[in-house]
Amino acid sequence: VERLNKRYRDGDPLAVEDVNFTLGNGEILALLGPSGCGKTTTLRMIAGFETPDGGEILLHGKRVTQLPPQQRRIGIVFQDYALFPHMSLGENVAFAMRHIAKAKRPAKAREWLDLVGLADLSARMPDELSGGQQQRVALARTLAAEPELVLLDEPFSNLDAALRESTRKEVRRLFKAAGTSVILVTHDQAEALSFADQVGVMHSGRLLQMDRPECIYQTPATSFVAEFLGHTN
Ligand code: ATP
Repeated sequence: VERLNKRYRDGDPLAVEDVNFTLGNGEILALLGPSGCGKTTTLRMIAGFETPDGGEILLHGKRVTQLPPQQRRIGIVFQDYALFPHMSLGENVAFAMRHIAKAKRPAKAREWLDLVGLADLSARMPDELSGGQQQRVALARTLAAEPELVLLDEPFSNLDAALRESTRKEVRRLFKAAGTSVILVTHDQAEALSFADQVGVMHSGRLLQMDRPECIYQTPATSFVAEFLGHTN
């Protein structure tokens, strides 16, 4: 991501200002920061849902800034990116597997649902599930498409505390096993520090610091980063 800028309306401050970073293959980045700091806007530009006012987005060195979302090979789990309500869970997951022969999709879909602990519910419709279960199906659907990069916007927010911890571990294991690169947005410091290989702290549209969790925690670059990570001095 090279010098990304976004302003929604004339006269508004920049929602994202000169955001620059490189994420290694198979690495997990957590974008962390308070409400309104520009995390979701950054993610939406990488997904292709918002057009940047300046800057470039490159995937494996290839410029994708002007490509429509469906040509970016990016998987997305956003809160407003719901399951198809008229399809069963199995059909929802199978729909993501256009790269696999049609006859093989139902069995494969069950395997993905099994990974998120929901294979028994394959025939159910989305409105028969809890919010947390729907999130897990959305994750299975994203994994089933085998994308190079996955974008997650507050992916664990609908889960209760106990389930959040175990799901986080499981999802991390799945992404690591698949070698998928991940960018997730969160305002939960503990989640960022435990889930990610790299943590980026944003404030007022700027990426203040990006580093490994232990480095960013031990050597915060600014007093804002220190305070946001819960340092008291
Ligand atoms: P949260 O954690 O609350 O989701 P965020 O860090 O993801 O916040 P963004 O949603 O990226 O923040 O918003 C960054 C800034 O851009 C905010 O000042 C917000 O009000 C503004 N903004 C976001 N979306 C729009 C929009 N569609 N039109 C106008 N301004 C917007």
